[in-house]
Amino acid sequence: MTSPFATLPKPGVLDLVREDLRAFAGYSSARSHKVEGSIWLNANESPWNNPVDDDGDVRRYPQPQPEALRTALAGLYGVKPEQLLIGRGSDEAIDLLVRALCRAERDAVVIAPPVFGMYAVCARLQNAPLVEAPLIDRSDAWVTDLAAIRDLAIARRAKLVFLCSPGNPTGELITLSSVRALAQALAGRALVVVDEAYIEYADAPSAATLIDEYPNIAVLRTLSKLHALAGARIGCLLADPALIDVLRRCQAPYPVPAPCAELALRALTPDAIAEAGRRAAVVRVERERMFAALQALPGVRRVYRSAGNFLLARFDNAEAAYRNLLAAGVVVRDMRATQGLGDALRITVGQPEENDAVFAALAPTAQASAEAAA
Ligand SMILES: *Cc1c(COP(=O)(O)O)cnc(C)c1O
Repeated sequence: MTSPFATLPKPGVLDLVREDLRAFAGYSSARSHKVEGSIWLNANESPWNNPVDDDGDVRRYPQPQPEALRTALAGLYGVKPEQLLIGRGSDEAIDLLVRALCRAERDAVVIAPPVFGMYAVCARLQNAPLVEAPLIDRSDAWVTDLAAIRDLAIARRAKLVFLCSPGNPTGELITLSSVRALAQALAGRALVVVDEAYIEYADAPSAATLIDEYPNIAVLRTLSKLHALAGARIGCLLADPALIDVLRRCQAPYPVPAPCAELALRALTPDAIAEAGRRAAVVRVERERMFAALQALPGVRRVYRSAGNFLLARFDNAEAAYRNLLAAGVVVRDMRATQGLGDALRITVGQPEENDAVFAALAPTAQASAEAAA
């Protein structure tokens, strides 16, 4: 006789989805019925093109998940098309995850601040309890407290954990072995989401390599940063096909505008991808040059090593530094309202000349003349 335990199924990702949504069919759009024809009179679209739409590309409602783009993105990220959901930026995927997994007032979301603000915003909108496991500030680097995250997630019965790697605004890279260990500890309890908006700048493997083995790992990717398409709003969730399917049914009927899908597809040709890779290499070189230059400046208290396309720096007088940069026409991200970052600015790595402008604005001579003028 075989042990009854041997037949217990592995905890499936659907167990983490709100029970009331597991069988939710969502909106049945004109595009979701598979029918053939040459005269399309099923979606109340105009029978004429808009005069500005020469090719008629936009007259019809788009495919909910444009197939060619989905295939291209799956190839880019090394997953199967059914493991990928395209959304209006990865922001939309964050929102869908919180709504589909967390019951209001009950199922918590764990974050590790200081971190990207959308996780907390989406939790707030869903009225899901937000549990914070702060990052540890180790003077030259920030470190995610994975043991605290694990313990809090279990104690507070969280359904979702957001990790940001590289971290925004800290630049911290979380190792895949840590992600794996956390996912193992939270198997059947919570989904571990790794936000990899900046992973291309890190020259490190993606957690996408783990999703086949761990159904409770999901990964966010975006065309907004390295691929320079922030305005097109194309982001992806990579996850277990069952979860992708549920989120798809919770998503708006036509989330991907046709012109954006077309532009994104053109940005994913081998040549365009190779060019993006060369740009990532330039950013890495500039990031290290900027790190050294900032560290050498007298008013800079501390610069953190970063795996992203930005640097977080603490200043003796962050207000003066921010004003000097603005006076030179350079706009950086003021982090001073963030808990623990009252003296910090986050500076995106720009083109080499743009970065030179940052150093010039922060140089002691510029500071002195600004003070004299004040
Ligand atoms: C910029 C950024 C995103 C990208 O969001 P999109 O909606 O895809 O533009 C996601 N996560 C983090 C941490 C970011 O900094």
